[in-house]
Amino acid sequence: MKIDGKTNVCGLIGNPVEHTLSPMIHNTLAGRLGHNLVYVPFPVEPGRVGEAVRGADALHLLGLNVTVPYKSDVIETLKEIDELARNIGAVNTLVRTEGGYKGYNTDMEGLYRAMSSEGIRIEGEQIVLLGAGGAARAVAYLCAVKGAERVYMLNRTFDKAQTVAEEVNRVVGREAILPMAMKDYTGLPEGKYLAIQGTSVGLAPHTEDVVIADDAFYEKIHTGFDLIYSPWETKFMRLVKGHGGHAYNGLKMLLYQGIIAYELWNDVQVSEEDAQVVYERLKEQFISKD
Ligand code: NAP
Repeated sequence: MKIDGKTNVCGLIGNPVEHTLSPMIHNTLAGRLGHNLVYVPFPVEPGRVGEAVRGADALHLLGLNVTVPYKSDVIETLKEIDELARNIGAVNTLVRTEGGYKGYNTDMEGLYRAMSSEGIRIEGEQIVLLGAGGAARAVAYLCAVKGAERVYMLNRTFDKAQTVAEEVNRVVGREAILPMAMKDYTGLPEGKYLAIQGTSVGLAPHTEDVVIADDAFYEKIHTGFDLIYSPWETKFMRLVKGHGGHAYNGLKMLLYQGIIAYELWNDVQVSEEDAQVVYERLKEQFISKD
């Protein structure tokens, strides 16, 4: 890697950032595309995200990704915000412009590209969405915008699901999202569902945890998509497969949200061939560990 006076710097702000895979995505892309760019993680202490963004601006950083817990807090530090990110209420990518950063949300489009690449359809589908946190909110918005027939949003804390459903339904102008308490899952109407697992339950090292363990629930699932990618195969995915469904993890979502950010920073289109090379590198991290 060549670093000189013209090297562009991009990075990730969040807390913690030590285990991030984003440097692998962006530095691999920079190498393959011949861009003079480096990507590094920056841990930001609680309450200091505004300082971090102003500092990045002063240092002419080309772009930043934003992760937990700053995806909402960062909004007030921006010069401009993309409409999609505003509607979702979360920003994960900052692009340098004259006089400050513009905020985008590439998680949602990243998930869409990931699902499309696996042949998973949203339009016309009955969907069960588990969770109502930051990620599930973007998923709910994606499903509503892409024409899901109905999304049953199940969350441990019902009030949170209700708030997200109201907000998303207002933006899309139809009752696309129906909030439910997680414990009421037996009340889901008969039918076959696409299930999207958007809670943090099952994340390593708690790999034997799952939000719903009941076999009767998995009988209703034709496809399961877990946003978690560590472990490579979650208990949720194993249960979906065990009942004859197809199951996918969230690594491609991570890949594509990164690729879209890279495209925004560098004004390029990343080819599927390059995307695949990055994906294989990311995958090695898990296959060797599991
Ligand atoms: P978050 O905002 O903290 O939300 C956490 C969600 O998990 C909430 O719905 C919460 O329910 C639920 N939850 C937590 N512990 C629970 C428990 N013991 N029982 C039942 N529900 C529980 O987190 P997030 O940012 O949305 O992230 C959620 C997951 O998505 C994480 O695992 C993250 O790694 C993954 N993710 C993946 C990608 C990707 O690129 N693949 C991107 C973003 C996020 P309550 O509301 O009741 O607390």
